[in-house]
Amino acid sequence: MTHETERPAPVTPSASAPVRISCPGCGRNDYVRWPAGEAVFHWKCFNCGKSFDLARDGGH
Ligand SMILES: [Zn+2]
Repeated sequence: MTHETERPAPVTPSASAPVRISCPGCGRNDYVRWPAGEAVFHWKCFNCGKSFDLARDGGH
């Protein structure tokens, strides 16, 4: 018997997937829905209120 209090969110690989980013301004980590195929993601930090063009990491 297991107690499952967390349920995995539905994942749609073909669509945008949550990407972990860190704010260049205040360093806050957040998850964003980065559109698939987009090299740059325009993101506004709700914490410090600044906007950034985040570049997708080369991956590994
Ligand atoms: Zn910020």
